Amino acid sequence: MTSKNWSGNYEYRATKIESPGSIEELQHVVSASDRIKALGSRHSFNDVADSPATQVSLTRLPAIFEVDADSRTVTVGGGLRFGEFAQRLSDGGWALHNLASLPHISVAGAIATGTHGSGDRNGTLPTAVAALEFVTATGESRRLVRGDTGFDGAVVSLGALGVVTAVSLDIEPTFDVRQDVFENLGWAELREHFDEITSSAYSVSVFTLWGDVGGTTVWLKSRLDGDTTAADRDDLFGAVRQTTELHPLPGGPSANATQQSGVPGPWWDRLAHFRMGFTPSAGEELQTEYLVPREHAVAAIDAMRALGPAMAPYLLISEIRTMRADDLWLSPAYGHDTVGLHFTWTQEEAVFGLLPAIDAALAPFRGRPHWGKVFDIDSSRLDSLYPRLADFRGLAEQMDPSGKFRNAYLDRTIFAG
Ligand SMILES: Cc1cc2nc3c(=O)[nH]c(=O)nc-3n(C[C@H](O)[C@H](O)[C@H](O)COP(=O)(O)OP(=O)(O)OC[C@H]3O[C@@H](n4cnc5c(N)ncnc54)[C@H](O)[C@@H]3O)c2cc1C
Repeated sequence: MTSKNWSGNYEYRATKIESPGSIEELQHVVSASDRIKALGSRHSFNDVADSPATQVSLTRLPAIFEVDADSRTVTVGGGLRFGEFAQRLSDGGWALHNLASLPHISVAGAIATGTHGSGDRNGTLPTAVAALEFVTATGESRRLVRGDTGFDGAVVSLGALGVVTAVSLDIEPTFDVRQDVFENLGWAELREHFDEITSSAYSVSVFTLWGDVGGTTVWLKSRLDGDTTAADRDDLFGAVRQTTELHPLPGGPSANATQQSGVPGPWWDRLAHFRMGFTPSAGEELQTEYLVPREHAVAAIDAMRALGPAMAPYLLISEIRTMRADDLWLSPAYGHDTVGLHFTWTQEEAVFGLLPAIDAALAPFRGRPHWGKVFDIDSSRLDSLYPRLADFRGLAEQMDPSGKFRNAYLDRTIFAG
């Protein structure tokens, strides 16, 4: 059996994929397996979702979608993709606080790796999790609710604690968003006005190729029920308002991207960059991202600019985003407001040769690699980057004493210490 991840750069080594049709069947599959790992929508770029034996997909489980207006939560099946329920949620009058760049990813898979969107005041996607339901190593179902012991460790779990069958997410009344794009932001302006730029809309993305002149584009996603002053401006610190529709990757098909040019639309059709039903990003690609404490944003950007010429032959686009601090043990934003420095690469072996230099350049700023993308880090540094990593290991050993959900990725990273 051969099966690959979404971008085709990684071939899973698992010898079997199970797709149970009911929770009872899933419980049986898990309890009967020696080694098993949940598989989401396969959008990670490394072996995080692989298993030495069996992968289990939730796509055949009955879909769960339950809104609870009193607790302001929606409970969805772990295997559901954001794009499969976001519009329905909105039609019912509700919204999630944020989305990643694409709605194609599964909820459980996204929260397992600490996936995030952007916005100075927006937490990562896992911060919206109010409760989780797992099938644990023994095949029993277990529910963890925000505030329970271990909950903060169990949300960003890398699939190491069990199979997440249902996730309750915080919701708020639905809102509309407009996207406005400004081109050719100068480096001096970005460095000098970094805080003003990232706070100038609800969600801000800075796209760049790290070159000396031009090519740096800012996407502002403004809530219509919030402050849209920035969206109404003609320029953004010298960057000029773009009037045609764009794709985040230079020259990419704008039809694949959510609408810009200041046209208002529902949150689910603006907060993501890419539209469901279309290929997001490039497709055949690699991705890397480092998350650095916000206080080091400008210094970390300078460090990446210095690597610009070395990265240029393989770089399709970079994106700079922000997120607020959280308390989730393995979250990229654990403990401090955070800036994400992201790289979309061509799918070439040479990219892996660049990864140690990126890691070394961001190490002084305590950069944390995105769990779902390609990176090269000395795992012995992870304990100092994640102060609760030892507690996470303890939680994993308690919930999965025989290491049923372990794989080569977890052995190499989390359990290497
Ligand atoms: C084009 C593209 C754009 C992206 N944009 C962003 C972005 O904007 N922001 C960002 O932060 N990341 C981004 N990513 C990365 C992506 O969000 C993560 O890799 C995410 O984990 C993918 O979710 P998935 O459902 O495909 O999970 P998979 O890759 O299938 O699995 C990831 C992890 O989740 C675990 N898992 C999956 N399902 C379950 C379950 N039911 N129970 C327990 N564990 C489970 C797996 O075991 C594995 O450890 C992007 C990726 C792509 C390909």
